[in-house]
Amino acid sequence: MSFKCNQCGECCRNIGGVELYKDLDNGNGVCKYLVGNLCSIYNERPILCRVDESYELFFKHIDKEDYYNANYAVCKLLKEKTEKSNQKE
Ligand code: SF4
Ligand code: SF4
Repeated sequence: MSFKCNQCGECCRNIGGVELYKDLDNGNGVCKYLVGNLCSIYNERPILCRVDESYELFFKHIDKEDYYNANYAVCKLLKEKTEKSNQKE
């Protein structure tokens, strides 16, 4: 089992105000390494951008399915937020 990301790029566009990602922020809340919807440093991206490896290192005390579901819930919220703001335009 591994995390299923559909590469929408929304998480990488919403790092503003998140202390852990502050070194990646281009000043607009978007990661400076995001190109289109993709990570330009994918193979070298920080551990905090790696859902499965982060689980192994930091979240093993949580059930893996619960961990994935929490991540999927954030993905869904970010996608909904973007959909809403696109509808306003
Ligand atoms: S928001 Fe979720 S689905 Fe979209 S790129 Fe990030 S991890 Fe992948
Ligand atoms: S380093 Fe890559 S995966 Fe991590 S937030 Fe930036 S663009 Fe996204």
